[in-house]
Order: sequence, then C-alpha cells, then structure tokens
Amino acid sequence: MDLSKLGEFGLIDIISGRFQAPEGVTGIGDDCAIMPQASGRDTLVSTDMLVEGTHFLMDDISAFRLGWKSAAVNISDIAAMGGKPTATFLSLGLPKGLSAEWMEEFIDGYKAISDRFGCPLLGGDTTSSRDKLCISVTVLGEAPSGHTHRRCDAQVGDLICVTGTLGDSGGGLQVILQGKERGAAEEALIKRHYEPMPRVEEGLALSEAHAMMDISDGIGSDLRHILKASGVGAVVDLRLLPLSAELRDACARHGWDAYEIATGGGEDYELLFTIGPEKEKSLEVPHTVIGRITKEKGLRWEGSSKDYDGYKHF
Ligand code: ADP
Ligand code: MG
Repeated sequence: MDLSKLGEFGLIDIISGRFQAPEGVTGIGDDCAIMPQASGRDTLVSTDMLVEGTHFLMDDISAFRLGWKSAAVNISDIAAMGGKPTATFLSLGLPKGLSAEWMEEFIDGYKAISDRFGCPLLGGDTTSSRDKLCISVTVLGEAPSGHTHRRCDAQVGDLICVTGTLGDSGGGLQVILQGKERGAAEEALIKRHYEPMPRVEEGLALSEAHAMMDISDGIGSDLRHILKASGVGAVVDLRLLPLSAELRDACARHGWDAYEIATGGGEDYELLFTIGPEKEKSLEVPHTVIGRITKEKGLRWEGSSKDYDGYKHF
C-alpha cells in the first residue's frame, strides 16, 4: 500500500507499534519524550525536520528567518510540555550552490532565538544533499519531575484555552502561496509564519494546566490529539477564537474564511491547554477560553455548520 494512503499518523503507528517505552518513560505520541533522571528532574527531548519545498520555499524565506524558524519550532515542543529548553543539535543536508554568506545569516537567525531562550547549540551533523536543503534539529529541555503536561492529561469539565492569536501564520502562508500583494497586515502575518515565538515563559507559568501542546498543525487537528490521548471529547465555539486584526483585515481583503485558517492553518506555535474552571479564573498568563472538554467523544464546533479539520502533511 502506498504510504500516502496511511497518513502521517498511520505511518507513525507502524513505527511506534514496534517499540515500547521503558517503565516511567513517555515515548512516541507527545510533543517530547520524557525521561526521568535520578536528580529528580525530567529530561525532555524532541526533534523536528524542515525540508525545502515542503516546509519552506528558498526564494521566499531569508536565511536569517529560516535559521530562526528551525530552532523556534523545536524549542516550541519543549514549551508545549511546560519545560525549559537547555540545548539544541543541528543537522544539515546542504545542496550545492549555497553561499558562505547565506550560511552566516542562517546561523545568525538560529543564534538569535537560541540566545533569547538561553538554549545553546551543542552539536550536529553536516552532509551534502543531492537537491533540497534539509534541516533537522533536536532539542533538549528539562522540567521538575512530574511537572510536564502531556496530551493525555485532559479531564472532563476542563476549559480549553489558547495563548495568543490563531491563524496568523496560516494567513501568512496563504499570502506567500497565492502571491498576494504585501501590505502592512500581510507583512505582519508573514512575520508570524517565518519568525514564530515559542511560548516558553507561558508554558512554564501554566503549572496548573492539565493537557498541553503547541499548535503546529492547527487546533482542528491538534486538539484531536489531546482528545484521543485523554479519551474525551470537546465543544469549541468558533466565535471565541482569538483572531488578530491583521488576519481579519487580510481575510476581508482576499475573501478568505478566517475560521478555516485559524483552525486549520497551523504553525502558530501558540499553546493549546486544558485547565479546571476554578484554576482558569486565577491564571496570569494571557489566554482565551475557546471551549470545554466533554465526556461525549468527538470534536464539535459551535458557531458554524462547517467541519473544520486541521492540516494534513500527506
Ligand atoms: P509535533 O508536531 O509536536 O512535532 P508530530 O506530530 O511531528 O509532533 O509527532 C507526533 C509524535 O510522533 C511525536 O511524539 C514524535 O516524536 C513521534 N514521531 C514522529 N515521527 C516519528 C518517527 N519517524 N519515528 C519515531 N517517532 C516519530
Ligand atoms: Mg508539538
């Protein structure tokens, strides 16, 4: 059978079916693996790859932004567990034709965000690639033992919340792909797409959250991971989704469905979390309540009859 028929998650099931995580270790299925240490702290590990043509277009993204984004999307997976990033490793498959100046700019972008979070680059690997640029980053992080937020930690009655605004990155991608003219709103959306800001401080401060993850594929898809892992369902009110003025503006101008972009656009790298209603009241981290966790399985949208699904890689 062709792999595309299986889908990304069917493919991961083939891999995860062969391996059982050791006792006490969280393996495949969450934003990071969680490995308890004798020191009483948990080590967090995650890895993410960016491939030219699939994740970025060389003639649109600057080297600085590509370096930034490569580190940022990885650091975001540590934020997603409520951890602190401690180090990264960078592996590059380089096609012919890149210049030394391009490489310097790429590493400047990578370093800018690494410095922002005090997360040094400690190693990697470099090889040539026949055709496309491939960037693979591994990130390490840490958290006090038992303080991580897994996808399986949602409880019936929890409120569903997000940090920041949704769909900006997806809107930026549409501007790029559709070759739209770039006014101030469009440039702002593109910046969100190319220079995502991992919510590390927010993740650390959300100690009372239950389930948590970062939004990489859009809540339509990402929330379903929390629901499946926790064995629960959800109701989300589309009218509550936090949309930026820039996204509303661009959607009005280009005739786009803002809900579709906000639920399915992906790559916002905001945090999606669930929390008990009492605890939510006293949260200091800026956030928006968008729905609640239900005993009845499945994801139901209020505020529209349309089904909003999320991004599919395959
Ligand atoms: P994220 O979007 O948070 O980076 P993914 O959706 O990429 O997470 O991956 C889901 C889970 O599957 C993660 O726990 C990840 O480690 C695991 N995974 C993905 N691809 C592979 C692979 N090739 N081998 C082993 N585990 C994988
Ligand atoms: Mg993630």
